[in-house]
Parts: sequence; C-alpha cells; structure tokens
Amino acid sequence: MMRIDELTKTTLPLVSFEFFPPKNEEGFAQLYRTIDRLHPLHPSYVSVTYGAGGSERQKTVELAGRIQNEIGIRTLAHLTCAGHTKSEIGEILDQLWSAGIRNVLALRGDPPGGGAFKPTEGGFGYTSELIEFVRARHDFCVVTAGYPEGHPQCLNLTRDLEHLKRKVEHGASVIVTQLFFDNEAFYRWRDQARALGIEAPIVAGIMPIGNVAQIKRFVTMCGAKIPHPLLLRIEAVEEDADAVYQTGVEYATQQCRDLIERGEVDGIHFYTLNRSRATVDICRALRDKLPL
Ligand SMILES: Cc1cc2nc3c(=O)[nH]c(=O)nc-3n(C[C@H](O)[C@H](O)[C@H](O)COP(=O)(O)OP(=O)(O)OC[C@H]3O[C@@H](n4cnc5c(N)ncnc54)[C@H](O)[C@@H]3O)c2cc1C
Repeated sequence: MMRIDELTKTTLPLVSFEFFPPKNEEGFAQLYRTIDRLHPLHPSYVSVTYGAGGSERQKTVELAGRIQNEIGIRTLAHLTCAGHTKSEIGEILDQLWSAGIRNVLALRGDPPGGGAFKPTEGGFGYTSELIEFVRARHDFCVVTAGYPEGHPQCLNLTRDLEHLKRKVEHGASVIVTQLFFDNEAFYRWRDQARALGIEAPIVAGIMPIGNVAQIKRFVTMCGAKIPHPLLLRIEAVEEDADAVYQTGVEYATQQCRDLIERGEVDGIHFYTLNRSRATVDICRALRDKLPL
C-alpha cells in the first residue's frame, strides 16, 4: 500500500479516521461495526492510537495490523516516547514493519497521571529523536503532531513551531493537528508554519462535539479553545443529547467545508472516538467536496 506521504502527491484532501484500541471484547465488537460503516467512505487511511501503558500497547500493533491486512485499509500506527527504552521501541517498529505497516505517527506521550514528561532511562527525551530513530530503523513514512493553538506546555507559539520544524527536519513528512474549532486560528498558525519554512502537508484534526462535559474535559487537556458563540450554542442545549449532536455535526461540517473551499488544507482527520455516526453524517454532507 502506498505510504501516506506518497498519497499526498496524488490525492488531496486526505480523509482519515482515528480509533483507539478498546479495553474489552465488547469495545472491539463496537469498533469493528464502526469500521464497517466507515469503510464505504474510502478513507485515505485510519489511525490507531497508542495507549499510556501496559497491555494497551500491544493492542495498537495488533489492531493496526488487523485493520490493514484483514479489512484492507491503510493504517497509521501511533507510537510514543513515553515509558519505553530505545530497544523496546525498536522491537515495536520491527513488529509493525513485519505486519506491513508503513506509516507511524511519532509522539512524545504524556505521563499517565498528568504532570511534566520525564524521559524513560534509555529512552527518548524528544519526539524529534524518536522520529530520527523510526526513519533509521525502516523506511517508514513518519507523521508528526502539530498544535494550532499551542501545545498545553507551549511557552510561545513561535517556539512551538520551531520545535515542529525540527521534527520535520528530523524526518517527519506529514503533520496532523490537534483538534481545533477555530479555523482562523488554524490559518494563522499554518501561515506562520509556512513562513518558517515548514513545507510538509498539514492535515486538520476535527472532532465533532457529541457531549458537552466530555468536550470541555478534552479541551482543557489538549490546549484547544471552544469559540464563545459555539460554547453558548452547545451549553444552551446541553441537556438535550440530540440537539448537542446536531449542533456538533453542523458546526464540524461547516468547519470542514470552509477548510476545503478555501483550499487551505491537505486533509481532514476525524477524531471518531470509535463511533461512526457523526463522521458519516459530515462526510455525506461534504460528498461533493471530498474524494470519497
Ligand atoms: C494527532 C495527535 C495524536 C495523538 N496520539 C496520541 C497517542 O496515540 N497516544 C498518546 O499517548 N498521546 C497522543 N497524543 C498526545 C501527545 O502525546 C501529547 O500531546 C504530547 O504531550 C506531545 O507529544 P508531541 O510529540 O506531539 O509533542 P512534541 O513535539 O514533543 O512537543 C511537546 C512539547 O515539548 C516542546 N518541545 C518539543 N521539542 C522540544 C525541544 N527539542 N526542546 C524543548 N522543548 C521541545 C514543544 O514545544 C511542546 O510544548 C496525540 C496528539 C495529537 C495531536
């Protein structure tokens, strides 16, 4: 299967869906139903997140291999510096390569209980080091994360972008962003990235709001902001699950339409939370705009 960076040369905008490895059998059954419903949309790729610890981790390798080889969708496997020595990371990369996975999203990861990141002894201190290691191990396409509104530990957006540039210089060839709701913030950040000489394709991370308490929790963790008019709209219907859903889908559809129509984006990455309904509704509404 063509690598994601090769795909960006022929098929834009990319459309991709993110999943996490479920905790139990029931969760897996639900995820496979979700993938069944999303498969007909012909995503450019799907991605599988990397757990914070323990048995969750092996699941990423297995699930990524299964989606790519049994279901037949190009898969991007996430991988973090956190909690691993270099030799453990090397083994995981060998397993991914043997399973036919050719795309890796290299990340730093966060400590499970929150707080400051501390490198594991014998591990990587920065994502740029992991990226270099992944590139040297096998001929993977390395994807990296970008933060249009700043990483939560960001001291300054320009400094953050300098670090993003370093990740690209160390071998990352595609950027996927953290979720954001404010396209204008994204455009400013993207222009600043381009001005700094970051030329890699940028895929925009979109999360349709499905639950008000949950999205408030996510944005505090990830550094994104909910624009005030949107916050007022969702809070006004907070008790009505259907109305929250409709508002979230409508907003995300409009956001994607703007990104595509203004030609400002190389791809759209949906944070699905292992559900299909919102992503299907948005992609259907944008059918004339997306290469589905
Ligand atoms: C698309 C996406 C997918 C994700 N998937 C997962 C996942 O599957 N599993 C998971 O555990 N987490 C995941 N995360 C969360 C991610 O692990 C955290 O946001 C983590 O804190 C940052 O990792 P990073 O590689 O993106 O950031 P980095 O690029 O490492 O940046 C983190 C901070 O360090 C600073 N920094 C970077 N380089 C340097 C340097 N050389 N010197 C000084 N400071 C530096 C940056 O400015 C920034 O403030 C994901 C995030 C995104 C956006």
